[in-house]
Formats: sequence, C-alpha cells, structure tokens
Amino acid sequence: MSEYVLQVEHLSKSFEKGKAVLQDVSFSVKKGEVVVIVGPSGCGKSTFLRCLNMLEPIDEGNIYLNGTVINRKDKNVSKIREKIGMVFQSYDLFPHMTIWKNILLAPKLVQKRDKQETQAQAEQLLKRVGLWEKKDAFPRQLSGGQKQRVAIVRALLMNPEVLLLDEITASLDPEMVREVLQVVLELAKEGRTMVIVTHEMEFARAVADRVIFMDQGAIVEEEKPGEFFRYPKTERAKKFLNTFHFEALEI
Ligand code: ADP
Ligand code: MG
Repeated sequence: MSEYVLQVEHLSKSFEKGKAVLQDVSFSVKKGEVVVIVGPSGCGKSTFLRCLNMLEPIDEGNIYLNGTVINRKDKNVSKIREKIGMVFQSYDLFPHMTIWKNILLAPKLVQKRDKQETQAQAEQLLKRVGLWEKKDAFPRQLSGGQKQRVAIVRALLMNPEVLLLDEITASLDPEMVREVLQVVLELAKEGRTMVIVTHEMEFARAVADRVIFMDQGAIVEEEKPGEFFRYPKTERAKKFLNTFHFEALEI
C-alpha cells in the first residue's frame, strides 16, 4: 500500500479551451499529514479541491487514493467520495431536516451502515463539538459557527480517509471563526489527514505540516509553515503574505 493517502500527478484543467485554471499540479498527502493551501482569490484552490473529490473532471494527469488511480470513467464516484470527505464555505445542510437527520442521512442511504453503530458515533461526534443538545434543532436555529461544526461532523461520520476543507470559516462572523478552527486543530492533533484551504494565516501556521502557495493555477512554493511564513522565497508569495495582518489568534 502506498504511504500516500492522496497523490496527484501533473493535473491540468481548464473550463474554457486554452485558459488553464490548473496547470501541471503535482502534490501528495501522507497519512496523518495536514497540508494547507493558500493563495490569492481566483488562483484555483477550490477547483483543485473539487478535482480531488471528483466534483470536477480533469483534463490531464492522475489522482490516486491509497495508490489506486481514481480519475477513470469506470470508477465508482460515490464510493470514492465517501473516502474523500469535503466541507465547504456554505454548510449545505438540508433546511427541513433536524441536525440529527442531516448527519445520519448519508451513512444510512449511501453507506447502509449499521444504525446503532452510526448513531453511537454520531452522538459521540456531536458531543465532541459541543452540539449534542442541538440534535433535534433545525439548521435555521443554529448560528453559522454551529452549522459549520455540524457540517464537519457530517463529513467525519462517513469515516473518510482524508478531509478536504474549503475556506470553512470564510462566511462566519469573527467570533465564530475560532470555535470552528478549534475543532479542526483538534482533528489535526488526532492525526486526521486533511487538505485545508484557508485565509486564516495564523491558523494555517498552527495547523499545517506543510504549506502550499498557489498562484495562477500552479504550485509556486511548498514549505514547512515556519519557513514559508518567515521566509517566503518568491516575490509573489511575499506580496500575498503582505496583504495579511498577523494578529495572534490565540488558538
Ligand atoms: P479560488 O478558490 O482560489 O478562489 P477557484 O478555483 O474558485 O479559485 O477559481 C479559479 C478560476 O477558475 C477562476 O478564474 C474562476 O473564475 C474559474 N472558475 C471556477 N469555477 C468555474 C466554472 N465552473 N466555470 C468556469 N470558470 C470557473
Ligand atoms: Mg475558493
């Protein structure tokens, strides 16, 4: 078995002919590793995560999950997506279902798992993120931060091999950002394999084993966080980092 959970070789993608959104991207994530992707808006971060999760077809290259190529037409996409969990900026909870129903839907319908076992795990996860008492509430009765924690629980309940997080705090009020990032930090400490796109630079520095700086659809730098944030090598990365104020997030 491959030591890499995810591996990408020479991935290229364009939405319009001749305009590459991702250009020859190669990258890998080991088991237990946390990779943070940063870069200016529009540089292709979301598209990249969506390609990893088979939500977007790719033009060139290969994507491997545990050593097996997954970007082939004959592959069972929903089976692959179970193993590659994703959380988005918008929580995408079903408004007419309780939190409990929302999180149990996919394990029941897609995975057909044992009900008692899934419910026990769901209870444990909701308790962990401090939302057990909200299990019978509807999404509209929750704050943004609470909804995003539910979305994380929903993804975890599928027991994914790797979790992709795409700017999951971007639409939250500042006071809710921390409660969500705290959950992600705990997952990292537990050894969860994650690929995280974020604009929270202090968080990136705290959580990342490796930072990838993307610009114009390509990986420009790839470094340990201490190195990248202190000594960015390229002008592009320096310029990008200069747009942030490094306030201590105290997390
Ligand atoms: P980021 O997440 O880094 O802000 P995106 O991956 O969302 O960047 O977008 C990268 C580029 O691809 C942008 O120029 C964006 O306009 C374009 N793009 C993203 N999704 C689509 C789409 N479905 N159709 C056409 N162009 C798209
Ligand atoms: Mg994006």
